[in-house]
Amino acid sequence: MKNAVRISLALVLLALFTFAQQPAKPLYVLEDSYLRWRLLPAEQSYDAIDDKHLKQYVEDLTAISRRYRDHGHPQWWGRISGTEADAENAQWLADQFRKIGLTDIRQQSLDLPPQWMPVSWSVTASAGEKTLALDTAQPTSTSPGTPPEGLDLEAVDVALGAEGDLAGRDLRGKAVFFYSAELASRHAPISDGAIKRIGARGAAAIFVIVAIPGNVRTQFYPVGSTVPTFSLGLQDGLAIRDLIGKARGGPAPRVKIRFDVKTVPKLKTATVWGSLPGATDETVFVVAHRDGWFEGAVDNASGVATMLGIAEYFARIPQQQRRRTIYFLGTSGHHDNAAMSGHWLAEHKELFAKTALLINCEHTSAEQLVIARGGGIRRSNTTVPLRWYVGGNPRLEQIVVKAYDSFGVATDAQPDSEPGGEMRPYFNLAPSLQLIEGNLHWHSDQEGAGDVPPTGLAATARAYSKIIADVNQLNLADVARPGSEARR
Ligand SMILES: [Zn+2]
Repeated sequence: MKNAVRISLALVLLALFTFAQQPAKPLYVLEDSYLRWRLLPAEQSYDAIDDKHLKQYVEDLTAISRRYRDHGHPQWWGRISGTEADAENAQWLADQFRKIGLTDIRQQSLDLPPQWMPVSWSVTASAGEKTLALDTAQPTSTSPGTPPEGLDLEAVDVALGAEGDLAGRDLRGKAVFFYSAELASRHAPISDGAIKRIGARGAAAIFVIVAIPGNVRTQFYPVGSTVPTFSLGLQDGLAIRDLIGKARGGPAPRVKIRFDVKTVPKLKTATVWGSLPGATDETVFVVAHRDGWFEGAVDNASGVATMLGIAEYFARIPQQQRRRTIYFLGTSGHHDNAAMSGHWLAEHKELFAKTALLINCEHTSAEQLVIARGGGIRRSNTTVPLRWYVGGNPRLEQIVVKAYDSFGVATDAQPDSEPGGEMRPYFNLAPSLQLIEGNLHWHSDQEGAGDVPPTGLAATARAYSKIIADVNQLNLADVARPGSEARR
């Protein structure tokens, strides 16, 4: 009897707990209800940077990606370097620069090295009567393709792909699946180097099941694998694991992979330039990369929108009150493994001889997505804290910290020691800074405009604008990196 009471109590608690997972009906419209920072009287001029207006830029850029997808590129799409989506967004950005009133607007054409361009692919698994289409399979960047007739391989599941999971396993010539709970990685070292470990044991194809709730397609950077390598959504991943597990003791399931990929030479991309002349020949550079996979809303429509917000703010100020010329650059980006704009800038050090500040606008606003108890993703009314980098004089560091505080830019507690991302090849040629972070949808087919809180766009554009204004009160030597020429 006592046990029965205990069991029913446990069931009631379980029911209560389960019930608690279900959200109630919304009490506000999310798009209007992201947390807003109230500006102090001294900062009212930055109210001109309007969050909803900046959000429209994100909508425009994500539409360019969808247009490319809907014009015959259903699997491999985005604002991809060298494609018509690249040309369209370069033209779009030049048009925005013109509308804002920038001068010397031009597209600097850059030759791309031969580009890895997937044409189409399919992955299916079968055991006995049962066939699974693994639709969320997404080739990792620069992955080799298959022969035209495809591959037909035995499927094996190696759990987490750790040393212990692989011990004693024969993976030669097989399609190997492993599961990764590293939700933020789209990189080669995922799961402590599992892809490399599995490849070294002779796998003929590798699949990383990314445990983001749902069934998300994620695009990885190159993983250094010499065999066809894909990421896989969680539902598809669990389904193939079940298929493999249930077949144990009988014939192993087979996986059929067909992946057609081309290397396309002679493509072009561009850096889009615009400027706002100032009262001196000293300069400030503001850059944002134009490319992105899928809709690329956070990465990097958000950064482009932030850059445009800064341009609009300073375009309203008379030239004589703008101490320095501000250059705005829409760069080609780095998802193409070429980073042409970045390398060109790195080779033109002379451009930065009189540069007081270089700001990279990259992933400047991303909604905090929450993994709900019991699975699934819940949305929220706030942005993720951003990783940040600032390199220059301690006076610059103080200006930056104060600006983030003034405009409600949430950051990690400590800055990064070096910037990753677009600015990496040339960040040390001038005092420089960036804010950067994505959310769970980063590099996935779920990363839409809804992932970009307009408030985050305004906060970063306002903070960056205030930083430029404050730095313009100082001489080059006051903000320069210790040991740099301007310092001496
Ligand atoms: Zn980016």
